[in-house]
Amino acid sequence: MMTGYLLGRAGVDALVLEKHSDFNRDFRGDTIHPSTLDLMYELGLLGEFLKLPHQQVPALAGIFNGHTARIADFWRLPTQCKFIAFMPQWDFLNFFAAEARKFPSFSLQMEHEVTDLIFDGERVTGVRVRTPSGSAEIFADLIIGADGRHAITHARAGFETKDIGVPIDALWMHISKRPGDPKQLFGFFRHGKLLVLIDRDDYFQAGFVIPKGDIEFIKQQGLPYLHEQIVALAPFLKDRISELDDWSKIKLLTVQINRLRKWYREGLLCIGDSAHAMSPAGGVGINLALQDAVATANLLAAKLQIGPVSLADLQQIQKRREWPTRVIQAMQAFIHRHVVTGRESKSSDSLPLIVRLLQWFPSLRALPARFVGMGPRPEHLSAFIRNAGIR
Ligand SMILES: Cc1cc2nc3c(=O)[nH]c(=O)nc-3n(C[C@H](O)[C@H](O)[C@H](O)COP(=O)(O)OP(=O)(O)OC[C@H]3O[C@@H](n4cnc5c(N)ncnc54)[C@H](O)[C@@H]3O)c2cc1C
Repeated sequence: MMTGYLLGRAGVDALVLEKHSDFNRDFRGDTIHPSTLDLMYELGLLGEFLKLPHQQVPALAGIFNGHTARIADFWRLPTQCKFIAFMPQWDFLNFFAAEARKFPSFSLQMEHEVTDLIFDGERVTGVRVRTPSGSAEIFADLIIGADGRHAITHARAGFETKDIGVPIDALWMHISKRPGDPKQLFGFFRHGKLLVLIDRDDYFQAGFVIPKGDIEFIKQQGLPYLHEQIVALAPFLKDRISELDDWSKIKLLTVQINRLRKWYREGLLCIGDSAHAMSPAGGVGINLALQDAVATANLLAAKLQIGPVSLADLQQIQKRREWPTRVIQAMQAFIHRHVVTGRESKSSDSLPLIVRLLQWFPSLRALPARFVGMGPRPEHLSAFIRNAGIR
C-alpha cells in the first residue's frame, strides 16, 4: 500500500491488488513507528493521521520475572514524534488507501488474489488474479511482491530462501479489558515465557509465546492449563481468562525469520515480509517493510514513469535494504535466545542482564528505542516524491 501510494503520488500508474475484501485482520501488529511518523510528516499527512484514534507510547516497559522495567525510551529519539503510535493496522491502511485514491494514477482492487506469475521467457510480465467475477490476467512493467510471509510471488518466481531458525510460535487472541487494568504494559516475561498485551481500547490483543511446535502438547493439557500459564504472567487477567473457552478463539501464528537470497528477477521485485519474513520480536517488521517501500519508490519512481526498469535498478533496492534486514534479523534471533527463551531468562527470578543494564544506565534505553523506532537505515523521501505530491 505504501509503495502504491508513493508511486501514485509520483505520477506512476500503480495498481495495488489485495486478496481480502477489507484490511480488518488481527495478525499484523499495531505499531506505527517514529520513522513512519517522520515519513508522514515529510508527506504532509502527519496532522491528519494523528487525528485517527491511537495511543502514544513514549516508552516501552516490560514485566520481567515480576519486576517492572523500562526498556526503550522513544522520547530520546531525534524524530518529529517521540513515541510509537499504537493503531490497528486496518486504520493505517485505510488511511493510506483513501489518500492514495486522490492520485489519478493510483488504483486499488480489493478481492483480487494473485494466483500466479505470467512469464515471457525469463521475464515476469504480469500476474494471474482470482476476482469475484472470475480470473483475469494483469500485465505491468514491474510486479512488486509485497504479499507477506506466505508470498505467492516469491514462491512462483522460484526464489531461494535462507531460513534463520526461530524457537517460538505465538498464540494470538482477544481478552477483554476492565476498568483499572494497567496502562499499555506491553510484555510480561517470566522464566522463558512471554505474554504481549496490545491495548486496543476496549480489548487486549494478546500474544502468548510458546516453544515452536508445542501447540499439540498445550492442546492435550487443555484450556485450563493455558489459562494458568497466562494468568501466571499477568494475574490481573484471572477474572476474565475463562472467556477463552474454545480453541477457535485462539489462533496459532507460526513465527518465521527468513530472507530471500535474491529479491528480484526481470520484471519482479519482492519487498517487506515477502523478501524477509520477520518475527514479532521487537515489533519492527512493519517499519522495515515500510522502509523497503520508500527505498523502492525513491529509486524507481522516476524510471518507472518512462517504462520498465533494469535488473541493475532492482539490484539497487536489495543492496540498500538487505543490510538493515540482516542487522534486524540478527537482533531478533538474539532476543529469542537471550530474552524470550534463553537460559538466562529461565534460570532466575531477577532481571536478565541486558535489562538490568538498561535500568542502571537509562541513557542506554535510547538504543532499543532507535532499533525499534527507527531501524538501522531509516529512509527519507526523495525530493522527487516529496515535491510530486504538492498540487
Ligand atoms: C504474531 C505476529 C505479530 C507481529 N507483531 C508486529 C508488531 O507489533 N510490530 C511490527 O512492526 N511487526 C510485527 N510483526 C511483523 C509484521 O507483521 C510484518 O513484518 C509486516 O506486516 C510485513 O508487512 P508486509 O506489508 O510485507 O506484509 P503483510 O503485512 O503480511 O501484508 C501482505 C498483504 O498482502 C496480501 N496478500 C497476501 N497474499 C496475496 C495474494 N496472493 N494476492 C493479493 N494479496 C495478497 C495480504 O492480505 C496482506 O494484506 C508481527 C508478526 C507476527 C507473525
